Amino acid sequence: MIQKFLETKKYDIVEHTEKADIYIINTCTVTNMSDRKSRQMLRRVKELNPNSIVVACGCYVQVAKEELKKIKEIELVLGNNEKKNIVGYIENYIAENVKKLKIEDVMNQKDFVEFGEITFSEKTRAVIKIQDGCDRFCSYCIIPYARGRVRSRRPENVIKEVKKIAENGIKEIVITGIHIASYGKDFKENYQLIDLLEELNKIDGIARIRLGSLEPLIITEEFISRLSKLKKVCDHFHLSLQSGCDETLKRMNRRYTVEQFINIVDLIRKYYKNVNLTTDIIVGFPQETDEEFEQTYKFLEKIKFYKMHIFKYSPRKGTKAAKMEGQIDGKTKEERSQKLIELSNKFEKEYNEKYIGKKIKVLFEEQKNGVYKGHTTNYILAYCNTKEKIENNILEVECEKIEGDHVITKIKN
Ligand code: SF4
Repeated sequence: MIQKFLETKKYDIVEHTEKADIYIINTCTVTNMSDRKSRQMLRRVKELNPNSIVVACGCYVQVAKEELKKIKEIELVLGNNEKKNIVGYIENYIAENVKKLKIEDVMNQKDFVEFGEITFSEKTRAVIKIQDGCDRFCSYCIIPYARGRVRSRRPENVIKEVKKIAENGIKEIVITGIHIASYGKDFKENYQLIDLLEELNKIDGIARIRLGSLEPLIITEEFISRLSKLKKVCDHFHLSLQSGCDETLKRMNRRYTVEQFINIVDLIRKYYKNVNLTTDIIVGFPQETDEEFEQTYKFLEKIKFYKMHIFKYSPRKGTKAAKMEGQIDGKTKEERSQKLIELSNKFEKEYNEKYIGKKIKVLFEEQKNGVYKGHTTNYILAYCNTKEKIENNILEVECEKIEGDHVITKIKN
């Protein structure tokens, strides 16, 4: 988005490792490590060109005003809401040469901030942000403090953007936000994520609607039965589980139990035959015993996600979990992580193997060295070596074999 703003104003974009006149560091604050990296990056770019303008923006900025004031290499510090005017701030700085720190208290923000002009970054897939903020306060997460309360984007603005995307020939949209299950919670009228999806499903030209990470508790029989009627919604859902042990979930302040989670998975599988479920798991959360980890492992064996993103718990200053007793050592975290990565690879292979010799429909997204890459609705990565021009086409192809994380396909004549 920031890149598009700059390109519109005819700025040339270069790699952050090259000499530039302006460096914009869109910081992250998800772990202490991200904070450190953000600070390092802000200092390092100045070394590349001591006369450059260094701009710090993003989530770390929202939570670390005082720390940033101490970094003398920075000219502009801009909160998340200021990103839409970033070029204006830079040009003012060039005109006036006055350092500026502009951060709105994110907790006071009540409305979704529109970023104005719509931008398209990919030829086949566009990412649509429908809400910001989160009210869940999981004990390990800083996001609610960095992004504030739930603010949903007005449906008419989302619909307008998606129509424009369709006019530009993009076939797939990905619905994202910080906590999309909370969409509409801040509206006066009763309008929720499912209502928005029903509207988006009607837009001509859009062939696929993919959902970003979903809070498991949004899945009720009513939700999933309405969702399954929307033929453009992809049968791939990312449900963040984080742990398969009730005690650990409680300490994480996740609001479901493993029993609720398995019921949710059963519900989804009842409505979607070939559904692909992916998840995030945190290992080595404070006080996670071997037995608790074992419970998680067994639970995961039962669920059989297609892919699991494994995170080794990393304390984030300012969160409840960072102050908890019983922090787990690095070696244990590494061992637990390795075990789950192996399990995840096994499930992925098993899932992909089911497709050998079968036909799948792939939206081909890009081509490199004559090989096209694309995904099925249930997010199987497929390669196809062909001389035909198939980019941005949805084609039925045959799966020949598996190679690593993808399947090799050929076009059926
Ligand atoms: S739901 Fe997600 S964004 Fe919200 S606090 Fe929990 S982990 Fe953070």
